[in-house]
Amino acid sequence: MSTNKKGVAIVGFGGMGSWHKRKLLASDVAELRGIWDIKESRRQKALEENIHVYSSFEDLLSDESVDIVTIAVPNELHKPLSIAALEAGKHVICEKPVCLSCKELEEIIAASARTGKLFTTHQNRRWDADFLLMKQVYESGDLGEVTNIESRVQGSHGIPGDWRGKKEHGGGMILDWGVHLIDQTLQMVKDKRIERIYCRCDHITNYVVDDGFKLDIYFEGGLTARIEVGTSNFISMPRHYMTGTNGSAIVRDWGKDCEVVCCKNWEDKDVVPVVTAAGLTKTMAPRNKDTISEYTIPSPESDVHDFYRNYCLAVDGKAEQIVTHAELMRVMKVMEAAFASDEAGNPVEFDDSI
Ligand code: NAD
Repeated sequence: MSTNKKGVAIVGFGGMGSWHKRKLLASDVAELRGIWDIKESRRQKALEENIHVYSSFEDLLSDESVDIVTIAVPNELHKPLSIAALEAGKHVICEKPVCLSCKELEEIIAASARTGKLFTTHQNRRWDADFLLMKQVYESGDLGEVTNIESRVQGSHGIPGDWRGKKEHGGGMILDWGVHLIDQTLQMVKDKRIERIYCRCDHITNYVVDDGFKLDIYFEGGLTARIEVGTSNFISMPRHYMTGTNGSAIVRDWGKDCEVVCCKNWEDKDVVPVVTAAGLTKTMAPRNKDTISEYTIPSPESDVHDFYRNYCLAVDGKAEQIVTHAELMRVMKVMEAAFASDEAGNPVEFDDSI
């Protein structure tokens, strides 16, 4: 056994706990010490895979070979289990959403400061190739001043029938998928303050938690980001779309390249009109090809295990952790404002001071 790899134990051995297990078994920076799950069937599953199973959460926390505890349990347990692990002297990686409110997050951050142990959240979708493409386009300036960003994920199976459909477990799509899409958007738009938030939640198959939503984030200077999650969409809209004063970009689906169209000659508006049922239109006709440049950016390589690589370096004081407390708080504030806006039925002002 290599001694410089960090020892990691997983709490919660369901879908995401198993995902962490697979990554840790193949890791160059960490080693899986074992798991704990309250469900007998999940503990049995781990034993069948020759994975060490602790006899309790406390047993896991008392293992001195465990440096980092990865928490992958339903959302309402993130705060108490994270704080307990920090208090036991462990560094903590908690699954998303970090917890259920800004107040809860303040308590976790205070526990991290008090114990001197690192705390972070697994915002693994920062490594999604489709997002990295849009970030590259945003930062390139090719679209001129970006005025509109749209990010969508849409399925047609309704909200899962497990704890995700229940309020007391922190269910609903804002906390499940929204947290990823908001985090990605705020990773892109770091240079502008949020002024207002407007959110409308869907309740198509579930009346107690949102089974989808449409969230508009209004940034200073006029940039608007539209974030949409749907679970009753039988035809999906494109994954990402962005427009600016000089061009547009689209990533149609996960794993697809980014298509960019930029304007070469704004003044040349000569165009063949489009025939519609009600008459001709030049305004909505496609641009003349020699007034635009079109190119494709191929989907980049990325390795989500860089999250663990960074965290292990941060534990040794050799790097700053990628997912910071300030970033987690800003995303949580947006989610709280989204819930408040939905309840009020109106846009709400946003205080973007951290
Ligand atoms: P899941 O229902 O498949 O698994 C949760 C597991 O936690 C279950 O096996 C359950 O028995 C166990 N558990 C419940 N209470 C426990 C406790 N007190 N102690 C120990 N184990 C306990 O759910 P999931 O899909 O694995 O989601 C778990 C977490 O991971 C959630 O917070 C979810 O939001 C997150 N998640 C993140 C991603 C991602 O891409 N980052 C993807 C899926 C899920």
